[in-house]
Amino acid sequence: MFTSEHRAFYKQYLNLNLYFMISRKFFLAENEMPRQWYNVVADMVNKPLPPLHPGTKQPLNPAELEPLFAKGLIAQEISQERWIDIPQEVYDLYKIYRPTPLVRAFGLEKAIGTKSKIYFKNESVSPVGSHKLNSAIPQAYYNKIEGTKRMTTETGAGQWGTALSFACQLFGIDLNIFMVKVSYEQKPFRKSLMNTWGAKVVASPSTLTESGRKILAEFPNSSGSLGIAISEAVEMAAKDPETKYALGSVLNHVLLHQTIIGLESEKQMEMAGDYPDVVIGCFGGGSNFSGIALPFLRHNLSGDKKTEIIAAEPASCPKLTRGVFQYDFGDTVGLTPLIPMYTLGHNFQPADIHAGGLRYHGAGAIVSQLLKDGLISAQAVQQLDTFEAGVLFARAEGIIPAPESTHAISVAISEAKKADEAGVEKTILFNLSGHGLMDMAAYDQYFAGNLTNFPISAESIAESVSKLEHLAEKF
Ligand SMILES: *Cc1c(COP(=O)(O)O)cnc(C)c1O
Repeated sequence: MFTSEHRAFYKQYLNLNLYFMISRKFFLAENEMPRQWYNVVADMVNKPLPPLHPGTKQPLNPAELEPLFAKGLIAQEISQERWIDIPQEVYDLYKIYRPTPLVRAFGLEKAIGTKSKIYFKNESVSPVGSHKLNSAIPQAYYNKIEGTKRMTTETGAGQWGTALSFACQLFGIDLNIFMVKVSYEQKPFRKSLMNTWGAKVVASPSTLTESGRKILAEFPNSSGSLGIAISEAVEMAAKDPETKYALGSVLNHVLLHQTIIGLESEKQMEMAGDYPDVVIGCFGGGSNFSGIALPFLRHNLSGDKKTEIIAAEPASCPKLTRGVFQYDFGDTVGLTPLIPMYTLGHNFQPADIHAGGLRYHGAGAIVSQLLKDGLISAQAVQQLDTFEAGVLFARAEGIIPAPESTHAISVAISEAKKADEAGVEKTILFNLSGHGLMDMAAYDQYFAGNLTNFPISAESIAESVSKLEHLAEKF
């Protein structure tokens, strides 16, 4: 006899099967969002080397960071705890856009005819259009509870600036932003967004700081760089006790905040009945890459899994694949602590590629140590290949990716093709760090045939790196 109980059972059973077979998007409920961030340092055998004081070259005393950063963030910067609680206020604000969907890229798989499965975590759904809000909200929060009145920051492509503008607006903090000049000119609407969320924006190098004036005296036509803009923002914060500085990438606490991406993805991959063989993130200073990758890396470190973890960097700014591992400044002028990093040298002037968020000379201490120890790998992608991948993805999945994110897409496609050639089926996960709706001028230039690759000679890297010799011992 077929009872209603049987029917309910079969319905549930059938739905479960259908769910695994045809689901395209995997959503977590709000209350399934992870309550803690993951700190990979707890699981690293070789811990990242300590930052050094720029003057004395001795390991930095964390208290020396207090003029620049809120104490709560400094504590996270040096923490060895594996799990760090997300404060309730931050958790509630995350709910403005989190949890974000995990998507099976059926369209992209079909477009390239692969037998592999490709998934992406869609961080472009945040109101500012990228993953950057994941760290902007907690950074503004810790500053707010410690009484900070004003903040300064730099922004490259404009993504970090927009994220921090909105976060500071949520907490009632004033914000001054130094925006890399090439982006300021290429992306005027990014500035409009920052103004709308209440921030003040100037093009960097500017005449507002000694650092900016120094660069302009030497290079009057400087198109700016993240390194220069950081110098300006740090200088302004250091000179005013009521003002603190915020960095959108590179530092340990920023990577920590971004792990919400990978921790959600882990749960969503489980809903999909899969586990990634390959995890990919594009790489500027390492925050979205670390966000998607470190929670999966933790299962490699514990010996349970062997996921391949790949950072996708621009061939025109190849610190991971062609840089050296040594102490270097985080900025161009040399105001920040010395960080142990894969670097092209803080004087390296990256080409004006459209993936502005990836034009940074170095990588963070954690990611650099992981790369040195062979626990992650890196691939460099040429600008034209990234746009080709971006357009393919846009036409297959409907989302126009940020030029930064197209680096991850390009590597995901080539990994799928490699798997097909080897006759294996892989499960590939990449992070879609942001959408490109503010970057249509770059797409126009690509369609008009005006974009080029920017090959970098070994000599120019060697020259830039050679200027570092006097700073600290190489490893
Ligand atoms: C800033 C940015 C990046 C690069 O920064 P990471 O810290 O390396 O993640 C990548 N994609 C987007 C969309 C960005 O805004």
